[in-house]
Order: sequence, then structure tokens, then C-alpha cells
Amino acid sequence: MLNFRDVSACGTDTETSLPCMFSAIGRRDYDEDRIRGSESLLHVVKRAGFDVLWRDNQSGCKGTCEGLPMQQIDVAQLPELCADGRCLDEALLRGLDTIARDARGNLLLVLHMLGNHGPTYFKRYPEAFRRFVPTCDTGELRKCSRQEIVNAYDNALLYSDHILARTIAFLKEREARFDTAMLYVSDHGESLGESGLYLHGVPYAIAPDEQTKVPMVWWLSAGFRRSFGLDADCLAAQAAKPWAHDQLFHSVLGLLQVDTSVYERGFDISAACRR
Ligand SMILES: [Zn+2]
Repeated sequence: MLNFRDVSACGTDTETSLPCMFSAIGRRDYDEDRIRGSESLLHVVKRAGFDVLWRDNQSGCKGTCEGLPMQQIDVAQLPELCADGRCLDEALLRGLDTIARDARGNLLLVLHMLGNHGPTYFKRYPEAFRRFVPTCDTGELRKCSRQEIVNAYDNALLYSDHILARTIAFLKEREARFDTAMLYVSDHGESLGESGLYLHGVPYAIAPDEQTKVPMVWWLSAGFRRSFGLDADCLAAQAAKPWAHDQLFHSVLGLLQVDTSVYERGFDISAACRR
């Protein structure tokens, strides 16, 4: 497991970050029209012969999966996981076994989690994950103490961790048949009352680290590392360095060894680790 400790987001809200993180251009040369008008990472990977599927438990793929297969989690189908028009992220894992069973070639699957999007953090986890108490049990954050907000947020984090653990377990179970890997990264951070700020979306230039720094985790099965010639010690050293969403597009192409003119080796985190 590789935990990248210093990763900067492209934007401070979903609308900006999502198209940006799946684009070749990224933040360094940010141009919204150009980003939305050019091929996303998913289109490039698809053209390289992969099956691509976007599963959504949030607000859609913002154009990054246009023309590609997309499954929206259906609130009506999973009453045990859904309430008030929203579903717990576990819904994203339902039916994955069928997808894996039917997969014939290479598959890139995107699970767009609801994650810790506020303000109703208390709705992001089931009762069993209510470990930090007391919690803020309303979307009107000003009615809660800072600690109650942080507690609800931390419970939602525990639940997100659990979803990632289940995803990895799912991939591990299929290691004999596939070279499996998981890459997790958030689209932006969240303020929980630091400097009087809440939620996210502050203009980037003045946004605090809480909104611009994001977690990123890679899990690569031994088979995947072997097949793609990746050195584990080198990857561990890379994880300690500062990176940004700008590296995501090129790093995924590098990890999957997709040969294309839009790939830039200088932005590929694992380039130095391939033998
Ligand atoms: Zn978001």
C-alpha cells in the first residue's frame, strides 16, 4: 500500500477538479474550455483497448466519461443502503463480482464515491461507524460545536477507509485471474471550521491547505507490479514526495503502459520505478 502524503488538488470543488484531474493539461496550464474540449484520461485508455466503466454515487462524471458506459447508483434499487435520495458508498461495490466475471480484457473501473462531501457528514456512514461522539447530526453546521462536526467527519472517514479496504479485498480475491490495482484520490479537501471556514470551494489562490491537499493511495497487487516491472522500494520513495492532480493523467497511462503521444513521462510518478 502506498500512501502519498502530500498531494495538491487541481481545484477546491468537484466541478473544477474532476475534469481537471482526468485531463492531460491539469492545473499547470489550466483552461476550462480546453480541458472540456479535449479527450479525458478515460477516452485515451478506452482507445488503447481497455473497457472503461464509470460507476457514480455522486454528481456524475462532468464530461470525463462522455460516450463511455456509465452506471448511476439507483436509489430505488438499494433501499437498505439509500435514504433521502443518497446512498452509502457501499452501493458502488454491489454487483462488482458480475462485472469482474464478465470482463474479457483489460478493465478500468471508476468508482465515484460520495465520500466526505458535506455538509451532512452524519449521513455518510451507517450506525456501526459512529465511533467518534457526540456527532453533528444536522446539515446546519452552525448549530453544532466544532468537535461534533469533526467527529461526524471522522466517522465518515472511517467508513471511506472501510470501502477502500473492501475494494482491495475484492481485488485480492481475483489476483489469480487478473493483475489488479486500485488508485484512490480525492477531488478536493474540506474545511471543518479552521479559520472560520467550512466545506470547500474557496478560490484556489486564497484556499487553505485543508481544501487543496488531498489523500492519495495506491494498492498494486504483486502480479501487477511484476507484470509492469514496478520496483516497490522506488514507489515507496515516490510516495513520500509532493505531487499534484497534474500527475494523475500521465501516471495512470504510465502504470497501464498505454503508449500514446499525449503521455508525458515527466509527469508520471512511477516512470522512474519501471524496469
Ligand atoms: Zn467533490
